[in-house]
Amino acid sequence: MNLRIPGPTPCPDYVLQAMTRDMINHRGPEFRAMLLRITDRLKQIFQTQNEVLILTASGTGAMEASIVNFFSPGDVVLAVSIGEFGERISEIAEIYGCSVARLAFPMGTAADPEAIRKALEDNPAIKAVLITHNETSTGITNDMAAISKVVKEFDKLLVVDGVSSISSIPFHTDEWGVDVAMSGSQKGYMIPPGLAFVSVSQRAWDAYKEAKIPRFYFDLGRARNYLERGQTPWTPAVSVFYALDVALEKMMEEGMETVYERHARIAEKTRTGVKALGLTLLADERWASNTVTAFKIPEGVDPGDLLRQLQSDHEVVLASGQGSLAGKILRVGHLGYIRDEDINGVMEALASVLPKVGFQPIGSPARSA
Ligand SMILES: *Cc1c(COP(=O)(O)O)cnc(C)c1O
Repeated sequence: MNLRIPGPTPCPDYVLQAMTRDMINHRGPEFRAMLLRITDRLKQIFQTQNEVLILTASGTGAMEASIVNFFSPGDVVLAVSIGEFGERISEIAEIYGCSVARLAFPMGTAADPEAIRKALEDNPAIKAVLITHNETSTGITNDMAAISKVVKEFDKLLVVDGVSSISSIPFHTDEWGVDVAMSGSQKGYMIPPGLAFVSVSQRAWDAYKEAKIPRFYFDLGRARNYLERGQTPWTPAVSVFYALDVALEKMMEEGMETVYERHARIAEKTRTGVKALGLTLLADERWASNTVTAFKIPEGVDPGDLLRQLQSDHEVVLASGQGSLAGKILRVGHLGYIRDEDINGVMEALASVLPKVGFQPIGSPARSA
């Protein structure tokens, strides 16, 4: 199966193999050594000296942690949204009682740093900016270098959802002054769902001390205390730790620069391939993501038929649109364990199935006739 959705992503054999290992004591020396080794490597990937804490949860758990640990009901936060995941963190903040100022940009575009500046000028009560680095629902990567500069000029806490970017697209936690950064195991790490990662700056720990929203399972202070002893507060997903341990080892061997280049090259290949079929990208290419590519479903094509035939005849699985983009776009995930042949397979399958569902790809015999 060529699983080309933006998470969960395929796992290489050595990862699957690592997970067949029996359980160990999660309060013993072996787990401790593994946790410390993994944490150290995650800090390299996050490019940070801050603590990185590992939660047993999907990425949304890290999103929830990034709200409940640092804010109190009534705190004003600016939620910058360019798609579904931007909406999700804004919803979490709202549910926990924050006063959410929303700044949304049209689907398929990136956040404009100048509009963020204007919002911060207009509302001095804003305590923090919540933003998605890589919006998986639209295939757009925000310009965090430019955006973080604005946020830091105003001296606000910066909370960044890097769930589908960190480890696949360069992310400079310290250089950008990101106070809270999140990521998730089933995206760029080549391992199953089950672990989420959160980095926390000193400024964010200061906010933690004042924060009044109730927290328990995702209390990052507890996670930090336990990490000092080489443990997690609650029973961790031990098998996923085994997977992460070997995957990080391989990533370090490949070299993170090479990992990023591979993602950039394969993303470019995906966009070129999609356009060569005569399909239209959702994203303006200036901001196109290196981990997921969204294209518009051509007029008259039933997305359900297209997805079904791709899977039944070619074993290619693409992701449908989320929220307001449901039925309008399809998405190709190209992150984590991604190779050229995976994308070749997607393009061959699309070229074969599209004519059967009512769209003649460019260069196909029916089209040139
Ligand atoms: C996948 C993802 C999440 C978290 O989703 P889960 O299903 O909880 O893992 C959050 N943000 C972004 C940008 C994502 O791609």
